[in-house]
Amino acid sequence: MSKQAVIVGAGPAGISAAIYLVRAGFPVQVIYRDAGALGKAEAIENYYGFEEPIKGDALFERGLMQARRLGVECIQDEVVGLSWGDKLTILTKSGQYPGDVIILATGAARIAPKIEGLKRLEGYGVSYCAVCDAFFYRQKDVAVIGNGEYALHEAMELVGTSKSVTIFTQGREPEFSVPDVPNLSIDKRKINRLNGENSLESLELEDGSIFPVSGLFVAIGVAGSSDFARKVGAEVEGARIVVNEDCATTIDGLYACGDCVGGMLQVAKAVYDGARAASHAIKYLRNL
Ligand SMILES: Cc1cc2nc3c(=O)[nH]c(=O)nc-3n(C[C@H](O)[C@H](O)[C@H](O)COP(=O)(O)OP(=O)(O)OC[C@H]3O[C@@H](n4cnc5c(N)ncnc54)[C@H](O)[C@@H]3O)c2cc1C
Repeated sequence: MSKQAVIVGAGPAGISAAIYLVRAGFPVQVIYRDAGALGKAEAIENYYGFEEPIKGDALFERGLMQARRLGVECIQDEVVGLSWGDKLTILTKSGQYPGDVIILATGAARIAPKIEGLKRLEGYGVSYCAVCDAFFYRQKDVAVIGNGEYALHEAMELVGTSKSVTIFTQGREPEFSVPDVPNLSIDKRKINRLNGENSLESLELEDGSIFPVSGLFVAIGVAGSSDFARKVGAEVEGARIVVNEDCATTIDGLYACGDCVGGMLQVAKAVYDGARAASHAIKYLRNL
């Protein structure tokens, strides 16, 4: 049976990797949410081959069409996790995609919310990975900040071990249906400040009330590559995934490329990274 490659992200890095892999004869699935950074780029005029500036979203569409023509299966869905059982498996809102290689190409990382005390308490009660840190909060009250599917996914990782889990949506409506879990609740109030000298003790809410918690898990918006990488124990430096010159992470079969590994945040570099990741992944798959 042929070996499957699964790529997260359909920007220049993900699509470039997909093109190399599919042309080497491997079935490739690309899972993507939207046009990523290109969707925000008004016009690109420093990338090879375009006489006139091209709109970012048009370049994105061209990439998708090129990959599809070559036989890449492009699936629009939101990735919420990465697990490691028999195989590395991408978890989305609506399914699971096991891969013999996984390539993360989800672009530059999200920015943590600007809440007083959050940065200072990172690693001392503030976490970015439920599956990594749930263990430290057994039988404790914890909170998750976020209002999307990713926040719910993180909360569900915690409900089994923590005493109580509260999802704070920061004044937004939850973008998920709330499951009937006894120790899970939703609070729409905004968190204004994190209290605690050496570790997190409580959240100060917009109405001045104090909400005692031992842990706060940040899961705002959509999960990024470094969030996924952390979940399987790959080395991460801040928001950047650590890779070697072949775009291989510290986990066998897991690659990362493009803006999510840092360096020059440009289309040309993302395309090159995608090609490098795929070239090594091809060798890896041929040796399995
Ligand atoms: C305003 C702006 C202007 C720019 N102008 C230029 C320019 O002129 N020249 C230039 O070279 N570069 C420019 N850039 C930078 C360039 O767009 C990026 O360097 C490049 O797009 C990075 O490619 P990437 O594939 O790493 O990530 P991205 O293009 O960001 O693609 C990320 C992909 O991952 C997907 N994704 C992320 N999270 C998830 C998830 N949880 N589930 C599913 N899918 C997910 C996204 O939907 C997207 O498909 C600009 C960027 C911006 C924001």
